[in-house]
Amino acid sequence: MKFVGAHVSAAGGVDQAVLRAHELEATAFALFTKNQRQWRAAPLAEDVIERFKAACQQYGYNSQQILPHDSYLINLGHPVPEALEKSREAFIDELQRCQQLGLSLLNFHPGSHLLQIDETRCLATIAESINIALAKTEGVTAVIENTAGQGSNLGFRFEHLAEIIAGVEDKSRVGVCIDTCHAFAAGYDLRSEADCEQTFRHFSDIVGFQYLRGMHLNDAKSEFNSRVDRHHSLGEGNIGKTAFSYIMRDPRFDNIPLILETVDPEIWIDEIAWLKSQQKVDSEAAA
Ligand SMILES: [Zn+2]
Ligand SMILES: [Zn+2]
Repeated sequence: MKFVGAHVSAAGGVDQAVLRAHELEATAFALFTKNQRQWRAAPLAEDVIERFKAACQQYGYNSQQILPHDSYLINLGHPVPEALEKSREAFIDELQRCQQLGLSLLNFHPGSHLLQIDETRCLATIAESINIALAKTEGVTAVIENTAGQGSNLGFRFEHLAEIIAGVEDKSRVGVCIDTCHAFAAGYDLRSEADCEQTFRHFSDIVGFQYLRGMHLNDAKSEFNSRVDRHHSLGEGNIGKTAFSYIMRDPRFDNIPLILETVDPEIWIDEIAWLKSQQKVDSEAAA
């Protein structure tokens, strides 16, 4: 099964995100369980948790179709101890919120060295942050997103993801989410089917599809290998539609949330419908 959706707004409460996903005819969705630009948030109220769970049941979303994203402020590889501690506490809170909502995945950006420590030390710090957080929570998998490599963000090489995973003690609760825009901006080409074959063969060799827990399907305003993170609507950017059609036809991307973070929410409903239609392209061509 392919699960397709978008990162929908949770304005008005997390339960509202479920309705918005349903209105898009989505079979997956992403959301922030708190304001992504603030450190603190009130705990989730019991009635909101119940409404969220009831809405998921009503509209047919189980936890493997939902990919919550954590706050942009969190840096699990922070070089300064006090700041690292603040990030770790916020990350544990994010995991606990997921746990309360009955969710099983939490998507996050690995972290940045801020030019103060080397890559190896930063990656080890990120792995240790994950170990600490997993030990304090249950049932939620830490899903590391690849990055475009803007600034001092790590996670733009598949090797970075593999190195973090290697440092995580509980391998059953760590995974990755590949963002197509970030991969392309980081130098992994996706413009042709042959490029997709090569990029995902490389991913398979370095990280392994057993760790793939989600995808972010975004075209790129950024240039290839530019290390600049600028998303675009499918087919409007420098990647083009081929990669997204390829992903929809490839069973290695089955049963995980495939999430749009494209720039125009007005056309998400069309993008989702188009993605769903691509699953049948091969069989129709053969018929
Ligand atoms: Zn992200
Ligand atoms: Zn993303």
